[in-house]
Amino acid sequence: MTKRIVIAGCAQEVSTFNPVFSTYEDFNVAFGQNVIEKSLGKNSEVAGMVEVLGAAGGFEVVGAYSAGATSAGPLDSASWNRISGEFLEALKPFAGEVDGALFAMHGSMSAEDELDPEGFLLAESRKIFGEDIPIIYTQDIHGVTTAKMLQHADGVAVYHTYPHMDFSDTGARAARQLVRQLNEDAHPVTVRVPIPALVRGEQLITETGLFGNQVSYLRSMHDDPRILNAGFQIGNPFTDVPELCSQVIVVTDNDEEFGRQVAEKAANEFWGNRFEMHQPLEDLSEAVARAAKMNGPVMFTDAADAPSSGASGDSNAIVAEMINHGYSKSVLAPIVDPSAVIRAVEKGIDGRVTVNLGGNLDRRFTPIEVLATVVSASDGIFPLEKWPSIEHAGPTVVLKSDNFTFVVFSRPVNLVDRAPFYANGIDPQDFHSIIVKSPFCEPEFFDNWCEANFNVAAPGSTSADLPSLGHTTCARPMFPLDECVEFVAEPQVFSRGVAPPFTGPL
Ligand SMILES: [Zn+2]
Repeated sequence: MTKRIVIAGCAQEVSTFNPVFSTYEDFNVAFGQNVIEKSLGKNSEVAGMVEVLGAAGGFEVVGAYSAGATSAGPLDSASWNRISGEFLEALKPFAGEVDGALFAMHGSMSAEDELDPEGFLLAESRKIFGEDIPIIYTQDIHGVTTAKMLQHADGVAVYHTYPHMDFSDTGARAARQLVRQLNEDAHPVTVRVPIPALVRGEQLITETGLFGNQVSYLRSMHDDPRILNAGFQIGNPFTDVPELCSQVIVVTDNDEEFGRQVAEKAANEFWGNRFEMHQPLEDLSEAVARAAKMNGPVMFTDAADAPSSGASGDSNAIVAEMINHGYSKSVLAPIVDPSAVIRAVEKGIDGRVTVNLGGNLDRRFTPIEVLATVVSASDGIFPLEKWPSIEHAGPTVVLKSDNFTFVVFSRPVNLVDRAPFYANGIDPQDFHSIIVKSPFCEPEFFDNWCEANFNVAAPGSTSADLPSLGHTTCARPMFPLDECVEFVAEPQVFSRGVAPPFTGPL
């Protein structure tokens, strides 16, 4: 008999240090079968789910609801109420009508008055579907799986790559677990080991960095029939919520002991590597001085203002330092500033305009007065180079002021590749210095043709200088926020309906 599976999604990564709230309007929302149709043929979790269920045969897939937004500040209360309400209302007609549910989630959402949005959605979905229907969700490697999520779900599939490329594969792993539960009577028992550590840096690149070893080990476990899913989350250090930590999550087919072995091994290796994985940043002033003497091109990585990590994108800190330094090289700088765009559009192409650039959203930055020529204007809609995403930056202008060229967006969008420049008629290779507002990019985008990549210690709501952010909510002590943090693996076991109380990583 055909089994019916409902698919839904809710995903956003936030920086709780970004003072600008996200709203409903920032989300791409889909209802019903549109959830599936808009994802097919793309490298997306939903496409991976549908492919596996189709290949298995005997499944009918129905879509319910999805809401997804670019990373940003926390969701305001009214918007969260609307999104969570729509999500749950869309599921209700399927109560008693489906054999399983698959949810594409992120894991680092946070709302004004809900610090565990995905946990809430899973708990409420469980009420709708009852205790016997398998619910499996997917998450980002930067997600923060909570005890509540694991209590109400049967398992989780987590990305295995950073930079993320395995969206579809992750959806496929979630669907495979569902197929094993429904067709082979697998009984999920999940073991997680929280680790009191937050790390940022190039050692987290899974293909080349130390962290890749732990992920490869967990990925290899999928060849073992005792494992239904296994993944590692490093959390999003900028999402300051109670259960923020790094953690290993192993979903077994009723084999708690094996789950413990696998999770403890990966967790202990990660802990042993924590100092090497915590990347030092370069002093901004020194980096600018060194770059000024180079032939170039050079790139400045401004991870502290990366919209893809949840920042506002309106930092002018590197530009300010360059101006103070009397920097004379040609500079390409992306920045979010809706007021500057409005003023520039009013002047028109070739018009001269004075704008106070930056610091209009995140007040930690002081606006810089710039007299510039309006070079071009666009609608700010463009596809990214590799991610399966169309960005909507709103009205966008290119401003030129002396040796500085600014691509000014109305809204923060993913600035993870060259697409935001190409879409506005700019080739970054024409510049000596390029500011890149992403912690990491694929090498061909910039690194391969740049003389140097300065990963600078700039201020911002997604700074890799984690102690500078001022966490107040996550469990403490936490490396590197505190001194002398100790770790002993304490596995927590979840079997449907049974949950240990959360006591923090230590
Ligand atoms: Zn991520």
